[in-house]
Amino acid sequence: MSNAYDVIVIGSGPGGYIAAIRASQLGMKVAVVEREHLAGICSNWGCIPTKALLRTADVLHTATHAKDYGLTLEGSIKPDVKAIVARSRGIAARMNNGVGFLFKKNKVDIIWGEAKLTKPGEIVVGKSTKPVVQPQGPVPKNTLGEGTYTAKHIIVATGARPRALPGIEPDGKLIWTYFEAMKPEELPKSLLVMGSGAIGIEFASFYRTMGVDVTVVEIMSQVMPVEDAEISAFAKKQFEKQGIKIHLEAKVAKVEKGANSITATIEKKDGTSEKITADRMISAVGVQANIENIGLEAAGVKTERGFIVIDGYGKTNVPGIYAIGDVAGGPLLAHKAEHEAVVCVEKIAGLPNVHATDKGKIPGCTYCNPQVASVGLTEAKAKEQGRDIRVGRFSFAANGKAVALGEDQGMVKTIFDKKTGELLGAHMVGAEVTELIQGFVVAMNLETTEEDLMHTIFPHPTISESMKESVLDAYGRVLNA
Ligand SMILES: Cc1cc2nc3c(=O)[nH]c(=O)nc-3n(C[C@H](O)[C@H](O)[C@H](O)COP(=O)(O)OP(=O)(O)OC[C@H]3O[C@@H](n4cnc5c(N)ncnc54)[C@H](O)[C@@H]3O)c2cc1C
Repeated sequence: MSNAYDVIVIGSGPGGYIAAIRASQLGMKVAVVEREHLAGICSNWGCIPTKALLRTADVLHTATHAKDYGLTLEGSIKPDVKAIVARSRGIAARMNNGVGFLFKKNKVDIIWGEAKLTKPGEIVVGKSTKPVVQPQGPVPKNTLGEGTYTAKHIIVATGARPRALPGIEPDGKLIWTYFEAMKPEELPKSLLVMGSGAIGIEFASFYRTMGVDVTVVEIMSQVMPVEDAEISAFAKKQFEKQGIKIHLEAKVAKVEKGANSITATIEKKDGTSEKITADRMISAVGVQANIENIGLEAAGVKTERGFIVIDGYGKTNVPGIYAIGDVAGGPLLAHKAEHEAVVCVEKIAGLPNVHATDKGKIPGCTYCNPQVASVGLTEAKAKEQGRDIRVGRFSFAANGKAVALGEDQGMVKTIFDKKTGELLGAHMVGAEVTELIQGFVVAMNLETTEEDLMHTIFPHPTISESMKESVLDAYGRVLNA
């Protein structure tokens, strides 16, 4: 087998594997180098296994509220943490195997090992520094190993890893990253979550539903700091109702470790401090890109603030070297990585009408209870940009389907440009909003105005009707409130 390719992708996460498949579809000879597991963080330690855990939390939540639905449950429902984790890990393995199958189907070669750029057009693959988890079943025929490989185009998709704060480094025992939080051997009685971004809040939500005493510490003035302030405040109230304790404008300044617990010193903006003791702590203060030891310096690839610098098509400053996904900057989301992959490869192939990735239209979803989803500008950002806006709101309490489901705690907020009617942003909190947001994403992509949305028929009864009502509200025409 020749070691020369049209495209080599380093990393098989959602960015890497999608790039490889699209390149193969376009007739290119493609290989992917992977040092650990097919499908990357997303399927193995991120998006998918967390959603499996959160599904268990949803089922438990519904079961413990069975009475509200007229049901009597005999006996008690208790989480079996080993079985819960086994289900989540099984689902991760299934996704990992799925990518192995897709590579075979699309004739993408897999090179197992750790890749390093030596110069534009060439990489060396050495022994992996991580334990390699190959897909189950027979090793695919298209599998290669260590050596030197060449390609006209090299796409770096090496992803990211947990960020650690100096002095509060995770140790895997008392202070967890998402890796340990994903597969607890037993449930802690109490848990401190440092950071309330999507990862921190999803774990806070999961563990609280499992009955753990959860405290969240966030340095910013709202939970999920990137979300619209009103939506964030709404979600915070719900989290607190569930018993999650939340400290805003507070930072974990110091952590002392005991035999089987930690004591964190929390410093607050008002100058006061507090000590919180918990069995375990999750450090969820963001991620950092995997830019080290991959030969970026040798190849002359520019990085800035820890990420590879790219244009809207994934091109770096070095011809023939591209970057996509988490390693190329935020938002650090799987669907952003996938989209960048397709744009990058189609541009390499010279397809006409390839559009640069528009970061303003990337939705964000957090799968806590209640869920949070958004796209576009928050109200604060729109005002910061000097936009003259109209804002619409609609509460799930006035939506028949939400009430019927027992899910009346939620709301939709829409933001329009007053002059043009352009939809600038949509923000939602409540049941199933992570599924609903796509309606607004499509609308924004089509540069929809309020008029188009008002002419659109939404099925009844669905929670999606709240989306239309929110639009109507922005124009003083709300019907059901
Ligand atoms: C707990 C958690 C929950 C998340 N939930 C969501 C969610 O719900 N929705 C969402 O959109 N995003 C979510 N994310 C983020 C998402 O996982 C990432 O944005 C996504 O995985 C990025 O894809 P990627 O292809 O850039 O990199 P990754 O998925 O990180 O894949 C990079 C791959 O490159 C390999 N690699 C690295 N260096 C080398 C090398 N030198 N040689 C060979 N291989 C190498 C790694 O082993 C890895 O497999 C979550 C993340 C976490 C941690």
